Amino acid sequence: MKIYVASSNAGKLADFRTAAREFSGVEIEPLPGLAEIPAPPEDEPTFEGNARAKAIYYSRFAPGMWVIADDSGLEVDALDGKPGVRSARFALDAGVAIKDGGLDAANNAALLAALTGVTDRAAKYRCALALGSDGSIEQVTFGTVEGEILTMPVGEGGFGYDPLFYNEELESTMAEAPMENRLRVSHRGRALRALLRRWQVC
Ligand code: IMP
Repeated sequence: MKIYVASSNAGKLADFRTAAREFSGVEIEPLPGLAEIPAPPEDEPTFEGNARAKAIYYSRFAPGMWVIADDSGLEVDALDGKPGVRSARFALDAGVAIKDGGLDAANNAALLAALTGVTDRAAKYRCALALGSDGSIEQVTFGTVEGEILTMPVGEGGFGYDPLFYNEELESTMAEAPMENRLRVSHRGRALRALLRRWQVC
C-alpha cells in the first residue's frame, strides 16, 4: 500500500518513512507533481483544521490515491500554547527582523524574548495528521513530544525550534540528538504510527 505525503519537506518525508518501517507493506512516497500544485492557504485556527484542509485539497489532485498532510508546531505552556499554528511565522508576528540566520533563527530569537524571565518553560511539539482520498478525510490522528525551552540554542541538527527544545528522553535538545534518535520520539512519527495502527484494525 502506498501513501503519498503532501509535503516537499525532506525532513518530514524521512520522519514519516522511519515511522512506517515497523508496518509491513506500507510505502511512503512524495505526492507526484507536488511542485506544480499551488500551495493552499494555511489559515485555520488549529493544527487539525489545517491538516484536514491540506489533505482534502491535495488528495483532489491525486484521484484514487491515499494522501497524508500534516500541520505541526510548538506550544509553550507559559505562552498559553503560542506560537501554535503561527510557529513558522512567530518572528514576523513579534516584529523580530529576519537576518542572516534566516527564519528559524529569527523565530528562536522571538521565542527567547517572549520567555524572558519565565521559569516554567514546559512546551510540546504537536502534530495533526490527516489521511485523505478524493477530497474526503478518512482518518485524523495526533502526536506530541514533550520538552522544555532552554535559555540559549544548543546543537546544529534538526530545524525550526530544535536547538531550544530539550527532551528528557533524549537527554539533549532535538538539534543535538542523532537523527535516528530524534525520529524515534518525533511528534510526526507518533501521529503516523497512530494512523497506521488504526487503519490496520479497520
Ligand atoms: P509545518 O507547518 O508543519 O511545516 O511547521 C510549522 C513550524 O513549526 C515550522 O516552521 C517550525 O518552526 C515548527 N516545527 C514543526 N515541527 C518541528 C520540529 O520537528 N522541529 C522544530 N520545529 C518544528
